[in-house]
Amino acid sequence: MDELVSLAKRRGFIFQSSDIYGGLQGVYDYGPLGVELKNNLKAAWWRSMVYDRDDVEGLDAAILTNPLTLRHSGHEDTFSDPLVDCKNCKARFRADHLESDVCPSCGSKELTEPRPFNLMFQTQVGPVADGQNFAYLRPETAQAIFTNFKNIMDSTSPKLPFGIAQIGKAFRNEITPRNFIFRVREFEQMELEFFVKPGTDEEWHNRWVADRLDWWERQGIPKDSIELLEVPGDELAHYSKATTDLMYRFPHGLEELEGIANRTDFDLGSHTKNQEEFEIHAQVKENKDSNNKLAVHDLETKKWEIPFVIEPSAGVDRGVLAVLNEAFKKESLEDGSERIVMQFKPHLAPIKAAVLPLKRNNKDIVIKAGQIKRQLSRLGLGRIVYEDTGNIGKGYRRHDEAGTPFCITIDFQTIEQDGTVTIRNRDTMKQERVSEEDLADFMLNHINNMPE
Ligand code: ATP
Repeated sequence: MDELVSLAKRRGFIFQSSDIYGGLQGVYDYGPLGVELKNNLKAAWWRSMVYDRDDVEGLDAAILTNPLTLRHSGHEDTFSDPLVDCKNCKARFRADHLESDVCPSCGSKELTEPRPFNLMFQTQVGPVADGQNFAYLRPETAQAIFTNFKNIMDSTSPKLPFGIAQIGKAFRNEITPRNFIFRVREFEQMELEFFVKPGTDEEWHNRWVADRLDWWERQGIPKDSIELLEVPGDELAHYSKATTDLMYRFPHGLEELEGIANRTDFDLGSHTKNQEEFEIHAQVKENKDSNNKLAVHDLETKKWEIPFVIEPSAGVDRGVLAVLNEAFKKESLEDGSERIVMQFKPHLAPIKAAVLPLKRNNKDIVIKAGQIKRQLSRLGLGRIVYEDTGNIGKGYRRHDEAGTPFCITIDFQTIEQDGTVTIRNRDTMKQERVSEEDLADFMLNHINNMPE
């Protein structure tokens, strides 16, 4: 982990937030390479969830959330972790993270009884700070999918089964943020709520677990580095009938990368008015605040029915950490030196190609390199950089660490002889000459923004 954290900072993937003021615990910023990597991961998820399917619509809802939403979703009552304080050194821990009844900081046995600590952040809305006018920062993106259920039904008329996908920020006041970007207070989620007919939910749950394992593999996380954990009944979230966690071997240990939950009809049922009109399977509280019935009309039975929902919920930041971890390779080279190379899948690589002029003081080479950079940028594959550091060998090494799949060098042969350029492959370090006209096809074939 230490090597990853130092590479992340040195190369501009991830920085501690508010770094110059000593940071803010559990909050990180993504730098020039990090933002590209993160955007590429989110784009791959969106492609597979929305563009490659005909049964999913997208949503981008607000972060500020009406407290009634999180009251009826059960989060006000139950979205808490058990907190333990050490009476001796005042350190705080999550009770379920303690391995014994001894304080891990000072060794004292003087610990308080566990007490619930609500994880939701509140913020004042409007100018009057009277404690009444507040909103929550959403602790999961899912609730806005449920509260928009009717809007989306009315505007797109989907038929069961169908899903609503969303990527966005979520906030949790974690008691002990730790392990770099693994457990943070501000993070992003990629969540799909997939609505199905009650009775077909278990089959869909299994399908989604298999689908998500396949997807992570396409992002460079092999299946044998993920274990499936069936969450035990007494640890299930308040809304869940069954949850399968994808547990990935992070540098600090085996931990959750994504959770795939069967949320039943709990959420739509909880947000629905006149609940007695429906057969709701989950235990929901009466709702006098809602004006909506969040149900679908079954054309066969001619009845309104509240669907069940299967939720694959993945953390973007945990995904980035897993991708960084898998990509990181340290290789010993024949000349006795060592190189660090980030072997990202090309569609995730922050920079797709670097164009390097062999001589930065040769006007013709520099002009040609600039033209090629612009030509490749227009392919829309992602970031292409022009890099005129003057030392090609150093440029290659820098781009190995950035995970750039190809370095394209423009030299005298390009401008004086046959119009070919040198393409140096990140993984094999081999070089080949390709003519300028074939460069676009080469990049399209090799970067292939659509993972198989
Ligand atoms: P954990 O048990 O690790 O606290 P969780 O079960 O509370 O996680 P979920 O509520 O299932 O997590 O959230 C779905 C996903 O959101 C998780 O699989 C994870 O990838 C991500 N996530 C949740 N909390 C955090 C956090 N504090 N920091 C970064 N990512 C998070």
